[in-house]
Amino acid sequence: MADTYLVVNCGSSSVKLALYDDQASTLIATALAENLGFDKARLRIAFPRESTEDLAVDAGHQQAIETCISRFRESGWLEGDPAGIGHRVVHGGERFRASVLIEPTVVRAIEECAALAPLHNPANLTGIHQLSRIFPRTPQVAVFDTAFHQSLPEHAFLYALPYRLYQDEGVRRYGFHGTSHRYILQQLAADLDKPESETSLISAHLGNGCSICAIRDGQSVDTSMGLTPLEGLVMGTRSGDIDPGLFDFLAAKGIEARETHRMLNRESGLLGISGHTNDMRELTRLDEQGDQGASRAIEVFCFRLARYIGAMLASVNCPDALVFTGGIGENSAIVRARTLSHLQGLGFDLDAQANNTHGRDSAGEIQLSGSRMIKVIRTNEELVIARDTHHLTVNETSSVSPATRAHGR
Ligand code: ADP
Repeated sequence: MADTYLVVNCGSSSVKLALYDDQASTLIATALAENLGFDKARLRIAFPRESTEDLAVDAGHQQAIETCISRFRESGWLEGDPAGIGHRVVHGGERFRASVLIEPTVVRAIEECAALAPLHNPANLTGIHQLSRIFPRTPQVAVFDTAFHQSLPEHAFLYALPYRLYQDEGVRRYGFHGTSHRYILQQLAADLDKPESETSLISAHLGNGCSICAIRDGQSVDTSMGLTPLEGLVMGTRSGDIDPGLFDFLAAKGIEARETHRMLNRESGLLGISGHTNDMRELTRLDEQGDQGASRAIEVFCFRLARYIGAMLASVNCPDALVFTGGIGENSAIVRARTLSHLQGLGFDLDAQANNTHGRDSAGEIQLSGSRMIKVIRTNEELVIARDTHHLTVNETSSVSPATRAHGR
């Protein structure tokens, strides 16, 4: 069998693997292991044929990855070693503006960035170490969620805080979901038959996590997530923007900052407002049945999103398109319609019929004639990681960029 490229996304208690062909363009197989380190760890092969199996009670990343590789081999999807392995890495700080071949210095830099993403970067490093043990000869590549946003101008990435917090501690907006926003840019440019460097858009990635990005002439110039993936839009369980005065207000009532932070990350967003669930599909169903909590949650979600779309027009005045992506963006005609109902007068005029017929499997334009373009595009972060891995391992050149600033981090 020809070379293959393996894409690895290691979360704190999950691992997703995707195997691509020798051109990193065609998907061969995908697998997902969940609940690692807990009672009911399971491995699910999702493509090309479905199967599930229980893993040992205390199965961790190592066992999950090894079992998955064995299944890929037994099925004949993977022969020998992969030609390259690409890892999703959440935080690259200011160190990485692009994907890089993983060398010891890169591992150290990812460790240093762990202070900025304490839940994510250590899990990503676990994956890197595991895979280098299993495939010691295979080059590995790190693809950072933050890298695409390193083009943000200072006025977009600085918070109005004492400047020393940026200089000494690296407190700034970094932005996340960069791999998805970059994929949307690539797809839109291809659809419009324009170079990426001449393509401008507003990309709304709406999944369990949600973020929006203004892309001007192929570069990210503003985005809604910040120092951490908590800021910005309403998300499944995350609050997005709040008044930071909340911390003091709740502290006076005996709720400590740590607890407030947990609440903002895990009990807020769609789940918190609705009181039911973080799942937009379920909320839509409940809303149709007249549930007030669900209706409230959807309305806050859509209004916040509309505000941010308006705000992104400050950075990209004439976008080629507004693009909806992610599980909610691709599938929820209701969210798209309710969001855009707040933006009449800004040139986004939705075609209700096209909005109802386009979705994940029939991406396309959903605006009325005369409107700014509005599109649904299905995102594919794994494919971007596979392509970057192919590119970097075939060329065997590292594009590590020097630290732009000595932050002592
Ligand atoms: P993740 O960010 O974990 O990758 P996804 O991008 O898959 O998540 O998005 C998950 C969200 O998409 C969930 O809120 C889910 O309910 C929502 N979703 C999926 N399908 C639909 C649908 N048909 N209608 C509304 N929401 C949907």
